[in-house]
Amino acid sequence: MEESYEMLIIGAGPAGLTAGLYGSRSNLKTVIIEKGLVGGELLNTEAIEDYTGFEHIKGVELAELMERHARKFGVEINTYEEVKSVRRADGMFEVKTVNELSGEENLYRAITVIATAGGTPSKLGVVGEDEFAGRGVSYCAVCDGAFFNGQVITVVGGGDAAVEEANYLTRFGSRVYVVHRRDEFRAQKILQDQLSQNPKAEMIWNSAVEEIKGNGEVDRVVLRDMKTDEVREHPTQGVFIFIGFKPNTYFLDDHPAHDEGGHLITNERMETSVPGLFAAGDIRSQMVRQITNAVGDATVAALAAEKYITHLKHVQSESGA
Ligand code: NAP
Repeated sequence: MEESYEMLIIGAGPAGLTAGLYGSRSNLKTVIIEKGLVGGELLNTEAIEDYTGFEHIKGVELAELMERHARKFGVEINTYEEVKSVRRADGMFEVKTVNELSGEENLYRAITVIATAGGTPSKLGVVGEDEFAGRGVSYCAVCDGAFFNGQVITVVGGGDAAVEEANYLTRFGSRVYVVHRRDEFRAQKILQDQLSQNPKAEMIWNSAVEEIKGNGEVDRVVLRDMKTDEVREHPTQGVFIFIGFKPNTYFLDDHPAHDEGGHLITNERMETSVPGLFAAGDIRSQMVRQITNAVGDATVAALAAEKYITHLKHVQSESGA
């Protein structure tokens, strides 16, 4: 199959669905390609309490509402279809995909592409991590910290994210332990100083989480001391894992400018260094990774893409192309 679009969006999380809403509402021929189900990270989030206007909503319900809203304006959404490559050729993008169910390969052409494919928090890969995801195990302090008010929280990691988020989590937890596999953090000194001065925080050095246990919800983790090999159980209700985050940019052949962590660098119009390629949400280099700013990015990206297309058409009609 080969199809042409004015706007092609990669990923159907909050950013992708918002870009799809604005693209189709602007009467652009718009398609969203999603490798799994519609919703993105929303589907891994049990409850959301920080999306303005929704005091409490299940992630899956918000995904359904966002999808319905985007579809109202006519956006096409192709699920279970993974983007394999995005390449600029003759002023258009060629996007190759594979249908995850049928194995069929497809080629899309598009004037603009908005990358909203998010990223993947690195996992520990220990027993209990998947089982208790959303039931004690979290990868987002701002999203889930408030669920652990007055409880014992354990943070895993030693980079900027772990140390910064451990500090933040002390406003909720009765005590916040930071488990790190070495005896020093790699985080910035200023973040480390804030944490060491925080009376609610305590470091557990040279230790690895070997298993996450509980009964329906997390109630303890198994820790191994890397120096003595001693194994013990550590009671905790929350386990926040910050051991890195990998943005999903592997399909971009044109190598747009990115930061140290691989996130795409954009200007204020969400344009990347590749003309016609925009980025929004977690894939983009920025300070926070929240639903609110993902939909904000996507709004800007879609409206800027619409202006880019209008300008391109104007230039082409002037030149008689
Ligand atoms: P990171 O800097 O890559 O740090 C990952 C941490 O997790 C390291 O301490 C690492 O230990 C540990 N780790 C990795 N794999 C592990 C495993 N399997 N088991 C246990 N521990 C493991 O990642 P990040 O903290 O997410 O930061 C990513 C990027 O965003 C960085 O460039 C960071 O500077 C930036 N960032 C900046 C800010 C800020 O400026 N305020 C805030 C957040 C993030 P080792 O140290 O032993 O390798």
